[in-house]
Amino acid sequence: MAGSARSGATRGGGQDPLSEYRRRRDFARTAEPEGRGGSAEPAGPEGRGGSAEPAGPEGPLFVIQHHVARREHYDLRLEVDGVLKSWAVPKGPSTDPGEKRLAVPTEDHPIDYAEFEGSIPAGDYGGGTMLVWDTGTYANTTAKKGRRMTMAEGLAHGHVSFELHGQKLTGRFALNRFRSGENGEEEAWLLVKQRDAAADPRRDPVSAEPQSVRTGRVIDEVAEAEGRTLKGRPREEGGR
Ligand code: MN
Repeated sequence: MAGSARSGATRGGGQDPLSEYRRRRDFARTAEPEGRGGSAEPAGPEGRGGSAEPAGPEGPLFVIQHHVARREHYDLRLEVDGVLKSWAVPKGPSTDPGEKRLAVPTEDHPIDYAEFEGSIPAGDYGGGTMLVWDTGTYANTTAKKGRRMTMAEGLAHGHVSFELHGQKLTGRFALNRFRSGENGEEEAWLLVKQRDAAADPRRDPVSAEPQSVRTGRVIDEVAEAEGRTLKGRPREEGGR
């Protein structure tokens, strides 16, 4: 496969980190944000996501978007160095430290994507419906042998941990890479809740709290508002 089109979606190439994001979309068709390029307000040499300081309201952004496309999943995005690093999590996050959730990296997204809620045209990349399932800020808690690492360093190493300050999710989570993607297979990570006061094996936020934190709507209501139906949803069997 000489000249493979594999782009290494999560690897920085030293170029515009959003070129892959833009290449995949036709902004004359989709309402998704085109993105303004890099961070509008870098807060230091490492960027906003590079800080190891505790995040308050000023911390880097995180968002988790419920996305019903060809396959239903949850997109976890963390602001790092002016873009949203992104993973598709088929089962969504768990608050049970015993539950590891597959997280497949996708292309970097622009910061303003964190507010996107609506429909993507059927047949287009990511075609379907999306809502903002949770959002807030996070603090980078990544360390190796007691030494703090930036998010960028941790991502390159294949391990990051971070404390979420969301409306549904709080406390520490980790992302651990278990497949590098270097041998032609799909790069893959595992998202897992760390043991802390916010850990709760009995809670199931994905099913118990399905609504958008922006608008209070559930995914079917977002789709209906845009005159769409969701293919493959249990209550719409046979329909198209
Ligand atoms: Mn998605």
